[in-house]
Amino acid sequence: MHVFVLKGSFASLDAYLPKLFDLGASGLEEKDGEVWAYFPGRIELPLPGEWRELADTDWLEVWKRGLEPVKAGPFVVLAPWHEWSGPEQRLVIEPGLAFGTGHHETTQMALEALAAADLRGRRLLDVGTGSGILAIAASLLGADALGVDIDPQVLPAARENARRNGTSARFKLGSLEAAEPPYDALVANLYAELHAELAPAYARALGPGRRVWITGILSEREEVAREAMEKAGLTLSGRRQKGEWVLLEYHR
Ligand code: SAM
Repeated sequence: MHVFVLKGSFASLDAYLPKLFDLGASGLEEKDGEVWAYFPGRIELPLPGEWRELADTDWLEVWKRGLEPVKAGPFVVLAPWHEWSGPEQRLVIEPGLAFGTGHHETTQMALEALAAADLRGRRLLDVGTGSGILAIAASLLGADALGVDIDPQVLPAARENARRNGTSARFKLGSLEAAEPPYDALVANLYAELHAELAPAYARALGPGRRVWITGILSEREEVAREAMEKAGLTLSGRRQKGEWVLLEYHR
């Protein structure tokens, strides 16, 4: 993705706005007195005005630098460069290519649900760990936490984040087959159809009376997950919603 920034506004660009799309712009955005034009490839801009091009790495950097600390339950999720003096429990996560900076509603609900449970001395499995944020939070709450993910690229980041937070959360490549059941608690931020597929494996991974939180569920797809979880012998015991996103809590 190539990003070109022009000083000015849409009004000042009006005359040649359509030309940007002719040149292959996939998006235009106005922010802070500048117009940002997004192009899938490199182009020469034969247009008037004062343009500058952001390099690819700058672009990721810009996104990272724009991230604000985010509070969820007793936690504040911080990037390593954020300063924070509040009373919240600090959870430091390097924003990178792995999902889980704490800015998504689903991650926030999962953090709140974990914090509302007593996880001290409990074995917890985090399925689809991404940045490791939920396993690390569980570990800060006193759990013996394992995070699994089918994407090998996220594991070094998750391990580094665990180290940053001084926790002993562990990470393994794979999914439920990589886990070491039984678990006292399981958390998974995936999506409704995948939860439906994994529901029997969740039930097998849990000890009797234990609980599971699933999120990443759009409210309109909630029924798909609910049906499969009940079929797998799990009983609904809680529900949270933020915007269009839902978190469901079950007991085995
Ligand atoms: N747990 C983090 C959070 O709550 O912010 C990240 C969740 S992210 C939405 C989902 C993660 O699940 C991705 O890192 C993806 O690679 C992983 N994933 C997708 N399918 C999976 C599966 N079947 N088993 C384990 N991990 C999976």
